[in-house]
Amino acid sequence: MSKKAIVCACPDCDQVIDAGGMTFLTQEDADNHATLNCSCMKAKIKASDIKALEVTEELLAKALGGEDGTENVELREMLLEAAKIILRYKIDSCVVQKGTVKVQLKKGTKSKIDIERIDTTKQTFAVRH
Ligand SMILES: [Zn+2]
Repeated sequence: MSKKAIVCACPDCDQVIDAGGMTFLTQEDADNHATLNCSCMKAKIKASDIKALEVTEELLAKALGGEDGTENVELREMLLEAAKIILRYKIDSCVVQKGTVKVQLKKGTKSKIDIERIDTTKQTFAVRH
């Protein structure tokens, strides 16, 4: 298996970006670093989305319980995908429900995503004879 050298260059404008002493394990990591540090317009837009997703990931971990959000791993993954879709297609909001936990993601200002968790617990009352 031949290993292709990982190049740290902006995927949008091909400008070579200084790795800053970092070693990248995958081309995707190198691409992300280049995108975050390139000065071209496309990279700047993408960089703000990458940062927004990082913040969203942290907020989701908090919103879904546990420091790392381990309480609801599947739901967190779904919501992170939803956040990507919101950023990519400029959707206003998206609601994901799993069991009694319902989370709404809303596009905020400057590609920020607002998160609202609503827990629904159904209660049924009946008179038994
Ligand atoms: Zn660029």
